[in-house]
Amino acid sequence: MLAMNYRGPFRIRADRDKPVPQIEHPYDAIVRVTRSLICGSDLHLYHGMVPDTRVGMTFGHEFTGVVEEVGSGVQKLKVGDRVLVPFNIACGTCPFCKQELYGNCHESNPEATAVGGFFGYAHIAGGYDGGQAEYVRVPFADVSPTVIPEGMDIEDAVLLTDVVPTGYQAAEMGGIRKGDTVVVFGAGPVGIMAARCAWLFGAGRVIVIDHLDYRLEFVKNYAYCEAYNFKEMDDPVVFLKKQTDWFGADVCIDAVGCDASGSALQTITGKKLLLQAGSATALHWAVNSVKKGGIVSVIGVYGPPFNMVPMGSIMNKGITLRTNQASVKRLLPKLIDHVMSGRLNPKGIITHRLPLEEISDAYHIFSAKRDNCIKPLLIPPR
Ligand code: NAD
Ligand code: ZN
Ligand code: ZN
Repeated sequence: MLAMNYRGPFRIRADRDKPVPQIEHPYDAIVRVTRSLICGSDLHLYHGMVPDTRVGMTFGHEFTGVVEEVGSGVQKLKVGDRVLVPFNIACGTCPFCKQELYGNCHESNPEATAVGGFFGYAHIAGGYDGGQAEYVRVPFADVSPTVIPEGMDIEDAVLLTDVVPTGYQAAEMGGIRKGDTVVVFGAGPVGIMAARCAWLFGAGRVIVIDHLDYRLEFVKNYAYCEAYNFKEMDDPVVFLKKQTDWFGADVCIDAVGCDASGSALQTITGKKLLLQAGSATALHWAVNSVKKGGIVSVIGVYGPPFNMVPMGSIMNKGITLRTNQASVKRLLPKLIDHVMSGRLNPKGIITHRLPLEEISDAYHIFSAKRDNCIKPLLIPPR
């Protein structure tokens, strides 16, 4: 089958000879992929920032498909069902899944470490192949995969597998109260969705910070917020303090993580990149521009080599820091309702639609932030 194939940092290709996955366990399903997306989290893999990303792996944790085959233990899904498949691989029965912490499943795979499993996300997350392919094996098929509601656009459905719940959870973790000023760092798909969702929690003011003008323009219209370019500021923290009577924002959301695509960085190779990416700029800005006693919600992903936390400021200001992988299944019922009722318009962030064969171009465009790219969608053959 046709599938994305990781060859090493900044090197991927469309592979025509990857074997079609088989049922390996009674609770597996095989899904024929109908749409998939590339995520900022894939860029961490693409940039070589996640340990144990193995050559030959297929990425892709945001996809929809049609059930082709089910294992003998699968009861809820049947062949022919059109499904959206959350990025978390969750067993549904461990103590974490029982608390609806589906992003923290303990049982997904014997190789998985404390964070459970994700599709297409390196061996530290289970080593499962992902959905940037024609077919994918879906473990625990009765737990997270969800039949796409009648009348829902497939492009909305595919965004419910990650970006919508992730943006929503970023706002939720911020504990936003009515009238709060919320600052979102990062105007990528996740930050855009977090800004839009902040209003659903009663925010009084939403400010987004990035340095890519086209994304700032986009988010202003899409999320009805203010948006500012940090490259035009002497100091983003002072700028934000001025905006908030010098107290600081009530809530700051880090929707950047370990960004290596050149954003706040001058170069994308060598030591300079690692030092700057590891300095966690957005997280530092968030901690320094939130008010005392405020909440910093970190939805951006920091690979293990980038575990630098400004603990002194967090302690001195009494900040609450909340972070997690999104728990997609927990949020789906609410978010399906928001989409069906028109309160959220996920597909509005898709800017590029490419055949799966052109995956290498798609990664390049999304990583380099070229052609005003916000979110690229991949369409498999047939
Ligand atoms: P993206 O790369 O498209 O967007 C990141 C944006 O951050 C870019 O627009 C970039 O210009 C901007 N940026 C870089 N440095 C900045 C800084 N210092 N201040 C403000 N903006 C800055 O990625 P995305 O798809 O939007 O994902 C964003 C983050 O969310 C990634 O780290 C991704 O791994 C993470 N993520 C987390 C979860 C989760 O469940 N926790 C799920 C999906 C994605
Ligand atoms: Zn994702
Ligand atoms: Zn579990």
